[in-house]
Amino acid sequence: MPTYRRLPVTFDRGEGVWLWDKNNKRYFDALSGISVCNLGHSHPAIHQAICQQSKKLLHTSNLYGVAAQEILATKLINKSGMDNVFFCNSGAEANEAAIKIARLYGHQQNISNPCILVMKQSFHGRTMATLSASGNPKIQEGFAPLLEGFIHIPFDDITAIKQALEQNSNIVAIMLEPVQGEGGVHIPATNYLNQVRQICTDNNLLMMLDEIQTGIGRTGKLFAYQHNAIIPDVCTLAKALANGVPIGACLAKGKAATLLTAGKHGSTFGGNPLACHTACAVLDSLSEASIIEQVEAKGSQICSLLSETLKDNNAVLNIRYKGLMIAIDLAMPCAELVGIAQENGLLINVTNEKTIRLLPPLIITSEHIEFLTGILAKLIQAFTKQ
Ligand SMILES: *Cc1c(COP(=O)(O)O)cnc(C)c1O
Repeated sequence: MPTYRRLPVTFDRGEGVWLWDKNNKRYFDALSGISVCNLGHSHPAIHQAICQQSKKLLHTSNLYGVAAQEILATKLINKSGMDNVFFCNSGAEANEAAIKIARLYGHQQNISNPCILVMKQSFHGRTMATLSASGNPKIQEGFAPLLEGFIHIPFDDITAIKQALEQNSNIVAIMLEPVQGEGGVHIPATNYLNQVRQICTDNNLLMMLDEIQTGIGRTGKLFAYQHNAIIPDVCTLAKALANGVPIGACLAKGKAATLLTAGKHGSTFGGNPLACHTACAVLDSLSEASIIEQVEAKGSQICSLLSETLKDNNAVLNIRYKGLMIAIDLAMPCAELVGIAQENGLLINVTNEKTIRLLPPLIITSEHIEFLTGILAKLIQAFTKQ
């Protein structure tokens, strides 16, 4: 079905930050399949993990013990400070688990119509519950009736949270992205997540972080909440967790970790040996090469090179980053730039009409960064001077 407006290119193979199409033309991948291939393409340890596991066992179902799932769960728990985890196969599914946890949490307190505070311009997925939770009318259009139980408020606005709590006594959770990705790379005030954490604690609400895009090192910590030295009650992961093998995870802590009991939720493929063994290799590779520790410096280098070259360009309104989540706001709609860049051998993305978004592989080197910023700055100069 034509659910995507595709660019006229089909890739044949990849290595590190590079992709090649069927005609052997080379492209610099500054998007990583939307923050999925954080270790780049054809990473040897990932390749090896997939081969090893596929030789042994692909699937037995969750009716039995799954060794790789237990190993991955232990790694995630140790690294995140959370208590337990439910495995599924995508981001939307991970958020569905989070939403079910919030509703169980409400009903446990005899709240018959529990509500979740969610943010405008947020993105949580395309299933009925997650598109209802998302703060984007475009993705909801045509799908009414939407799921009830979501209240949308502005992001990065503590007063809006307090007002919503005064007006509604049935709010049981706040669900948000630490940095809004699809909505245009909105980075909140440094203290925002700490204040949300405090409000949740004071009001017995679950703090539910959608780290599907920000997690697995993207922002310079394994989980973006670790910049704030807080721990949420629920945290969802997917995208980069297995570097391209489909997997989702919903981590929970404290009361939130006790609610999904036998019979309350499930998934046939969720937590299968292949995806879990691959995700273990991702986590091991990230820590063995100290990759996440270098993310902040790399993001900073990209932004300072772009800022330097584009400083006299009035059509460039803002350049910002959190680790390797990078945004360049232009004064004009720039969706066309995606196709122009692709023709020039560079893969980028535009969100929110006027925001160029870069999500390069975390393994990007200094030389790669000079190459990437060199072409991109040239393309932006030419585009804005038209
Ligand atoms: C991509 C994304 C999702 C949806 O993940 P899928 O695997 O496409 O279902 C949810 N939330 C955020 C923040 C995302 O970036």
